[in-house]
Amino acid sequence: MPELFIGGQWSAAADGQSREIRCPADGKLVATVDEGGAKDALAGVLAARDAFDRGPWPRTPAAERGRLLLRVADLLTRDKAAVARAESMDTGKRYVESEYDVDDVVGCFRYFGALATAGGTDRVVNIGSPEIDSRVVHEPVGVCALITPWNYPLLQTAWKVAPALAAGNTFVLKPSELTPHTAIHLMRLLAEAGLPDGAANLVLGAGPVVGEALTTDERVDLVSFTGGLVTGRHIMASVAPTVKRLALELGGKNPNIVFADADFDSAVDHTLTAVFLNSGQVCSAGARLLVENKVHDAFVDEVVHRARRIRLGGPFDEQARTGPLISEAHRAKVEAYVAAGLDEGAVLRCGGTPPTDPELRDGFYYLPTVLDDCTPGMSVVRDESFGPVLTVERFRGEAEAVAVANDTVYGLAGAVWTQDMERAHRVAGQLRAGTVWINDFHPYVPQAEWGGRKQSGIGRELGPAGLAEYQEAKHIWHNTAPRPQRWFE
Ligand code: NAD
Repeated sequence: MPELFIGGQWSAAADGQSREIRCPADGKLVATVDEGGAKDALAGVLAARDAFDRGPWPRTPAAERGRLLLRVADLLTRDKAAVARAESMDTGKRYVESEYDVDDVVGCFRYFGALATAGGTDRVVNIGSPEIDSRVVHEPVGVCALITPWNYPLLQTAWKVAPALAAGNTFVLKPSELTPHTAIHLMRLLAEAGLPDGAANLVLGAGPVVGEALTTDERVDLVSFTGGLVTGRHIMASVAPTVKRLALELGGKNPNIVFADADFDSAVDHTLTAVFLNSGQVCSAGARLLVENKVHDAFVDEVVHRARRIRLGGPFDEQARTGPLISEAHRAKVEAYVAAGLDEGAVLRCGGTPPTDPELRDGFYYLPTVLDDCTPGMSVVRDESFGPVLTVERFRGEAEAVAVANDTVYGLAGAVWTQDMERAHRVAGQLRAGTVWINDFHPYVPQAEWGGRKQSGIGRELGPAGLAEYQEAKHIWHNTAPRPQRWFE
């Protein structure tokens, strides 16, 4: 069956191109999928435009749109095993983690389904005259281009698709070319749930081809992008000539600040999940450990001791605790960052190479790596390596911790570990980041906004603001008793 979904029909790529998808855990072929090009992107845009301008979806009552999203959540629950398996085969991540991801996707559809069902955010503006009826209504923006990455393929897609549909938009989705299968499955479920033809379109293909065609097309009203900083900067320039609404969810280089009075065991434990979960391929990964000088040695020794014991393996290895990197090219990038860090004076405490285990030979694995004695100027500290690499910096006192934590172009997330709650909240208040955890790392909920400050992005996903990204406010002024004004007499 062909894999592009345009105007309610499954179709092959116009130019007949295809792409092999290989599992990063062993390099084996998962499937060959259609590889769309600019013609397919255009077809997707035209279908979404027609569905927005003439189709029923934008004119469907919000509560009914919400009910459809709730149906999609039920269908995803029904198909959980197949979806999780597809995600694991494309990404190489552990099956159990893909199951958690599907649960979160279901939660996202339920949240936006409920938000739409609960009714609109329209409001009456009381201007103090009985003759004037003044209201602010919220309308869908129009045709949305949704461009997503490979690390949490379906989850990042859900954060866009659910609010876009809740608000009444139509869209063209372009998932990462490396991880297309859960997006294909989602299209089937949207159709099964009864979404009108053309409201949801899927065009697989390369970013510089399909993505570029979407971001530059004047018939697209909004671009929502999750991915790397360099691509984000490029997209910001691409949309400028046609002045579109733009939401960017970019990278992070997130500080994990541990004060000497922190609960030692909890802080060590969460430091490991902060950085090594999904082999560090997490935008909010706690890749920069800032540890108070007084506890530095004991703390880092324990982190290293436990990092050495982390077992790597493929999606269905039940003993494994984390998986491979997404590709050989990505592993080479991570290796280059570690090599640069060592050149610049960092001290390798563990990892720093692919594993030697023959069973892992064909996958793109890289050992959990700890680099000690790092300084803020090193490239491995400043740039997002997006791999299992923890850099360690020392600090003396609160002011230095905050200054070092904020010394980054990114501002996605951060954490502070201390038992002094006044200090915890003081530090949380000073971190220039979209999310701050106190004595925790990683939790997020669909009810709370997610997004970056500084070069981590523009806009917010999830929460009420995540719906507002896909709405335009319109002020409607109704003069119920018009009479001549005689301004020009
Ligand atoms: P990427 O920027 O390489 O690609 C992301 C998407 O953009 C892909 O679909 C790709 O095909 C597309 N793309 C590439 N060039 C394009 C172009 N010229 N025009 C339009 N689209 C184009 O990112 P990636 O490597 O897939 O993902 C990893 C990055 O995503 C990391 O930097 C990570 O921090 C970030 N990320 C951020 C969040 C967040 O919530 N802030 C979440 C997940 C991932």
